[in-house]
Amino acid sequence: MRKLQQLSMVFSLTVVALLLGQTASAAQGQDFSKVEIKVSKVAGNIYMLEGAGGNIAASVGEDGIVIVDDQFAPLADKIQAALKNLGITDKPVRFVINTHYHGDHTGGNEPFNNAGSTVIAHDNVRKRLESGGTAGNGGSIKMEVKPAAKAALPIITFDHDVTIHLNGEDIRALHFPSGHTDGDSIIFFPKNNVVHMGDDFVRYGFPFIDVASGGSVQGIIEAMEKTSSQLPADVKVIPGHGALSNLDDVRAYTKMLRETSAVVQKALSDKKSLEQMKKEKILAPWDKFSGDFVNTDAFIETLYNSLTGHKGEFMKHN
Ligand SMILES: [Zn+2]
Repeated sequence: MRKLQQLSMVFSLTVVALLLGQTASAAQGQDFSKVEIKVSKVAGNIYMLEGAGGNIAASVGEDGIVIVDDQFAPLADKIQAALKNLGITDKPVRFVINTHYHGDHTGGNEPFNNAGSTVIAHDNVRKRLESGGTAGNGGSIKMEVKPAAKAALPIITFDHDVTIHLNGEDIRALHFPSGHTDGDSIIFFPKNNVVHMGDDFVRYGFPFIDVASGGSVQGIIEAMEKTSSQLPADVKVIPGHGALSNLDDVRAYTKMLRETSAVVQKALSDKKSLEQMKKEKILAPWDKFSGDFVNTDAFIETLYNSLTGHKGEFMKHN
């Protein structure tokens, strides 16, 4: 058990390292004891929690608490304390919804499960947590994922969507196929006019698309177009990573994804190789999105692999 925890921790730290643009070895020294959980009110009884890893949404009310994503295991106590400190309810976190399987969004599953919460996610989240495998863009970005402990697996899984009726709201998790991974859900809080988009929508520049775990740029674009055409204009958008956003931010992001994919698609039609595309800097006009985690070359590679269906080599694991 302890060994499994340590192994899943290594993966989590690697993701953090990549997100923060540090080397893995620098991040091994990351001290979660220094992480503070910042809580902000989004609307009505919905809050956003930021610490390390993916953003958390919380519905806090008379029936108890529902959270979307749970960051890293060592932060679970601080997350619980931050929710309690709101002084709204003494009732527990009854449900945790995972937007996808990555360790910076599911790392707290085990402690939350042990504390009595029920973890809910798409079928593929449970499958990928259970089996482990390789996450990556099919090329230069590659992370080995160890199988998760049994206590970290979602207890309730769904194929298309699920609704939790708590705190006077129909909280709906809706699956969108092949976006950031093949197990993504976007979570809607319709009464409060808030949505948590998981890592289908992020604010750190070019997104990490986990092509090796069934993700694709086309799927993200479809998810973003479908949701932004149906949501009210003034909806508050919680991204997987980064600051609270609105639909204009989502549209600008979607436009960038559409334009950059079209450029790479055109280069593919012109029979250009991946090396040529990088050398010719075909995404230079979008360089402002180049980040430490996914720089322009890594994003060209991501789009190339996504558009050609190349998923990279899969690592063997026990
Ligand atoms: Zn992710």
